[in-house]
Amino acid sequence: MSVTRSWASDGGRFAVLVHGGAGDVPDAKVERHVAGCRAAAARAREILAAGGSALDAAQAAVIVLEDDPVFNAGTGACLTADGTLELDACVMEGEALRAGAVCALDPFKNPIAIARAVLEEGTHVLYAARGARAFAEGAGFSPADPASMITEAARQKLAEARASGKVSGWAGGTVGAVARDVRGHVAAATSTGGMVGKRAGRVGDSPIVGAGTYADDLGGAASATGHGEGILRVALGATAVHRLAHAGPEPVARGLIAEMRARVGATGGLILVGRDGRLGWARSTRTMTWAAEWDGGGEAGA
Ligand code: ASP
Repeated sequence: MSVTRSWASDGGRFAVLVHGGAGDVPDAKVERHVAGCRAAAARAREILAAGGSALDAAQAAVIVLEDDPVFNAGTGACLTADGTLELDACVMEGEALRAGAVCALDPFKNPIAIARAVLEEGTHVLYAARGARAFAEGAGFSPADPASMITEAARQKLAEARASGKVSGWAGGTVGAVARDVRGHVAAATSTGGMVGKRAGRVGDSPIVGAGTYADDLGGAASATGHGEGILRVALGATAVHRLAHAGPEPVARGLIAEMRARVGATGGLILVGRDGRLGWARSTRTMTWAAEWDGGGEAGA
């Protein structure tokens, strides 16, 4: 089932929508997750209301979520089969289609800030594993002590995944943001630890331009969450943004989440901002915590 929500633009000068991951957050924990999303959207709102860029706003929102240990990104990210962190992040802006991403990155506090440095440096778009680490260190980022980023909850989830005997399990709690600024530019950012117990070197959709993350001022911006292998196979982010050129974010998100399930049997969620500042989302999972802020108000839910 898809659940969708959208807002009329009201001439909306700026807008941001963040997600805290498609999944199945227990009822008792939903409020805490929504509060994290609200804090992230509020931070982005400050930037947008002061005339800041959609790119800065989306990145700042994701940093708030990476620093919040309840989410599967940055601190609190899920663990690989080997009990290590391999982090994925991507940021993209819709004016010149600049993008930066890192994948299978060693522990660094804020992978999205490294992805942004990749975007700004501009030589390449995506760095993996030891190359990503070398780029980050060269750009002035210091690796984190893994113990400072691995939470007890992440250890527990890995133990449960191992006990279940599956190759890897859904962690939930991936984070993302889409924003539109007062100049009419859009941006998207996504960050994750991926799947619990994933094999070393597994990379999901989140850091892949056009899959988990995409932005183009001609349509809008997208951040996906859910079963990464499925999202990759339908190129969810780029497909959504191209459709936004012709339809509103709510029907686009709803249609694509249903199509992904029908074509490749994958569930997940998608947040979208249209070039006009309208927001919309859909999910086929039980929960996807989210928060929105725009110049006319704000709203949040699961
Ligand atoms: N899409 C992420 C991945 O496959 C996981 C998630 O969104 O929960 O790495």
